[in-house]
Amino acid sequence: MSFSACVLTLYPEMFPGALGLSLAGRALEAGTWSLQAVQIRDFATDRHRTVDDTPAGGGAGMVMRADVLAKAIDHASPEGDPRPRLLMSPRGKPLNQARVRELAAGPGAVILCGRFEGVDQRVIDARGLEEVSIGDFILSGGEPAALVLLDAVVRLLPGVMGNAVSGEEESFENGLLEHPHYTRPQEFEGREIPEVLISGNHKKIAAWRRAESERLTAERRPDLLAAAHPLAK
Ligand code: SAH
Repeated sequence: MSFSACVLTLYPEMFPGALGLSLAGRALEAGTWSLQAVQIRDFATDRHRTVDDTPAGGGAGMVMRADVLAKAIDHASPEGDPRPRLLMSPRGKPLNQARVRELAAGPGAVILCGRFEGVDQRVIDARGLEEVSIGDFILSGGEPAALVLLDAVVRLLPGVMGNAVSGEEESFENGLLEHPHYTRPQEFEGREIPEVLISGNHKKIAAWRRAESERLTAERRPDLLAAAHPLAK
């Protein structure tokens, strides 16, 4: 059974976009995953095919209508669909590698991409949408966020990455940032590859990598260390 993604969007032409190339694109062609892009506007009911309206209570911008979105969701993900329903949203729980892994192990995802000021709260509640953020910044729409999420998920699907080991040694998989990498040439603009890495001593190499991981994590992401050791001060 392959991973089945469905994206609800006002810009279906943005898909598969970057995911049509490279590893993800090959996996899409091979049927390791599938991607359906549904045009939300097809579920508008008025002559002008309106999908948004002015915010209740006033203020700037427009809000996506609950009734139109509910129709689109019910079409794409009828009752009984086992796939989680996600809403890309800066207010959501920040996406992390653990959630990416869970999604990759599941049947797929139905992903709603917001536009304008956002989405009427009632459809979020009524359809049990899980709000997911890709970071503390504001995009103009949920589409790039959906592409980011799917890229992270698809590379974990069985058979997508040639070298499965590299998927497990990366940043975050052990709660740490990854150690630095080097490759030939041996000398670059006067900078040498660290001696230990060409020593052939695998134990020493592993210890060096671990120490570098810890140093970088302490320097750049002390929050990760704190999360791994909640009692340490
Ligand atoms: N008014 C909103 C921002 C709306 S941005 C606020 O202040 O919170 C328009 C759409 O882009 C959102 O509905 C969401 O779908 C998407 N989006 C913007 N930033 C995002 C982020 N960091 N993560 C995920 N989706 C995001």
